[in-house]
Amino acid sequence: MKLLFENWRKFITEVEEPITTLRIFDFDETIAHTRSETRVTAPNGSSATLRDQKEFESYMQAAAKKEGISTFDPVSELQRVGYQIDLSDFAIVKDPDEITVVTSIIKDFPADSKTYIMTARRGQSLGPIMEYLDEIGIDSSNVRPIATQGESKGDVMVTMLRQKIMPDGKSNINRIEYYEDSQKNIDDVLQKVCSNKDIDHLKPDNFELIIYKVKNVAGQYVLQKIECE
Ligand SMILES: [Mg+2]
Repeated sequence: MKLLFENWRKFITEVEEPITTLRIFDFDETIAHTRSETRVTAPNGSSATLRDQKEFESYMQAAAKKEGISTFDPVSELQRVGYQIDLSDFAIVKDPDEITVVTSIIKDFPADSKTYIMTARRGQSLGPIMEYLDEIGIDSSNVRPIATQGESKGDVMVTMLRQKIMPDGKSNINRIEYYEDSQKNIDDVLQKVCSNKDIDHLKPDNFELIIYKVKNVAGQYVLQKIECE
């Protein structure tokens, strides 16, 4: 029986052993392309259907700006000021197409590594994601799911780095491999984990952050490697 940790805070306390490598995978448009749509009605009555993540992000960004909201993930603030945002498609894995350039990498579980799915999806979304992994032949008992619940992924990674400090004062994490399609999330992780001076002292000397951006180029998924200089 696998445990599902809807709240990442609960689970990071479990990270204790020297890990060496964290492998972190986003879900939507990284592991699978899905047909999830978001239906929104604004307080002024105007409604919209957001068909993909790009449309979702630009709508939420524009609405947040209009309402003077500056949190990293403005969805719950927008709901509070009267936006009706129907995210129910994200409680399931809707008509998925596996992105094999990524799933062929997840399937191999290297020694001294831990593998995570880190998603911004809300609510009870992790169960269906884990079931989907098993369906496509990925042993989900080797994968830890994290729902960031509105926190930035960069902040969650910094918390993971701080969680276990070795006797030399450095984190037990030497390497982070991060697979993600969203440039917003990639920029956030570059800022918080790569160029953040506040955590320099925690990084082992050989620390590496390697980001693989998942891109769809003319119908074909490819990985673009982004290194932290
Ligand atoms: Mg994504």
